[in-house]
Amino acid sequence: MNLIFLGPPGAGKGTQSKNLIERFDIPQISTGDIIRAAIRSGSPLGVEVAEYANTGRLVPDDLVNRLASERLADDDCRGGFLLDGYPRTVAQAEALDGVLLERGAPLDHVLLLEVDDSELLDRITGRRSDPESGRVYHVTFDPPPEDLAARLIQRPDDTAEVFGKRLREYHQKTAPLIPYYEDRGLLRRIDGRGSLGEVTERVTHAVD
Ligand code: AMP
Repeated sequence: MNLIFLGPPGAGKGTQSKNLIERFDIPQISTGDIIRAAIRSGSPLGVEVAEYANTGRLVPDDLVNRLASERLADDDCRGGFLLDGYPRTVAQAEALDGVLLERGAPLDHVLLLEVDDSELLDRITGRRSDPESGRVYHVTFDPPPEDLAARLIQRPDDTAEVFGKRLREYHQKTAPLIPYYEDRGLLRRIDGRGSLGEVTERVTHAVD
């Protein structure tokens, strides 16, 4: 199963990806996670991408395309993959088309998680992650166990200020992917409102 998860920041792409990767036994490829790992490593690439990621701007296409195509070449992607947060521009989608054509791995579904802008801010600013397990919680909607609370961290781009920039980038640069994949008959719209479980049910229904 070759899948893309599309949607605004805070829609729940990462969270909802977890069920799908278990069910289909495919890796989740999050360019955001790859970028954050590069930043943590302090490599020259990490230094280069940090100024974009930490201020809510998209990292340049060439760089992200390289990171994604390298990851897609790994052995564990042979049986399928779930792309979370990639592509995010039409230029990235075109580059991905080329990579997938070469590999003979056509997309099965592009899942669009739809959530109103007004709901996203609360979801983003309440998000906390566990640096040890990578598990993401929400202070209200998915509270962490008490004994973990002290070690949880907030992403530097999950503040209200940076979120505004990320949302503008989404509407300007990523939303054009909706007609791009709709025209190819690949887009599945999923209502991303409601509880985690409700959304999971809709996601499951969309891929069946
Ligand atoms: P995410 O974890 O998907 O919200 O990504 C966090 C940040 O990483 C984004 O705000 C961008 O700065 C960068 N990023 C992740 N994926 C991409 C992408 N496909 N294209 C450009 N920048 C990206």
